[in-house]
Amino acid sequence: MTTKPDYKKYGFIPQRQKGFLIMRIRNRAGNLPASSLCKIADLAERFGSGEVHITVRQGIEIPNVKEELFEKAHQAILEAGLLAAVCGPRVRPVMACPGNNTCPYGLLNTQILAEKLDMQYVGRDLPAKTKFAVCGCANACTKPQTHDVGFRGASEPIISHEQCVKCGGCVRRCPAKAMTIENKALVIDYDKCLSCGVCMQVCPKQALKTGRLGYHIYVGGKGGRYTNDGVVIAKFVQEEEVLSYLNAILVVYEELAEKGQRLYAVLSKFGAQVIQEKVEKLRSVISSN
Ligand code: SF4
Ligand code: SF4
Ligand code: SF4
Repeated sequence: MTTKPDYKKYGFIPQRQKGFLIMRIRNRAGNLPASSLCKIADLAERFGSGEVHITVRQGIEIPNVKEELFEKAHQAILEAGLLAAVCGPRVRPVMACPGNNTCPYGLLNTQILAEKLDMQYVGRDLPAKTKFAVCGCANACTKPQTHDVGFRGASEPIISHEQCVKCGGCVRRCPAKAMTIENKALVIDYDKCLSCGVCMQVCPKQALKTGRLGYHIYVGGKGGRYTNDGVVIAKFVQEEEVLSYLNAILVVYEELAEKGQRLYAVLSKFGAQVIQEKVEKLRSVISSN
């Protein structure tokens, strides 16, 4: 009996209909050149049933590929200059919103970060499937809090009292009700503040400046049958620091996880504080070398 290839490693998933596979095409941060769409259409016609499905995580699937066509179909993805996806116990394609490339609410260039994550981590074997999501603001369109590791753009408002005319415009627009005018002075409750940046956009006097700007990093989230929100282990992390956090998180995950155990299970077993301390320790060791 011949052993079947590890389909999932190449982004193919056995379909519920025996003898058929779903073939996944990877994109970078939710983007594809327009010309790739024609190539995908061609693959769907040649190897599938002419249909394409877009997954909730921005993936592209071609269903109804006959199992015996696996090798040819995989080769055809590469020959078309496309990227095959990956499934199974490893880092999955990165999900990302457009960030400040096009979105009016975007605080950061999520696309640059997501591409870096994609190129450096996707396909890396880990104890279980591991999903990353990047988003550019507190609206959290890609749901970073329900990913194994999520990155959410955040901007800290700082009041310039000399410039503030106490018009109350920001107070009315603050979605977290974190702003008040008390004793004729604007006050921000930073425990409530979402770091969404809205107040900075609406102030007519530029009286709100950007303090820290970066990504809040969530760890241990998951979707699915029982959803779980991750915990924030670092705030306002600048893009160039993100990879050192992520490297440390993955090393700690590999050290503590049993085979098949996702990051949320490790987090609930050891607690967020242990994970956070281990991550910080590893980062300081790495940066001192
Ligand atoms: S998360 Fe924010 S930046 Fe990203 S698409 Fe949603 S609103 Fe725009
Ligand atoms: S950043 Fe957002 S949540 Fe924070 S004070 Fe400004 S408007 Fe409110
Ligand atoms: S909108 Fe600007 S000027 Fe008006 S209260 Fe807020 S910070 Fe002050």
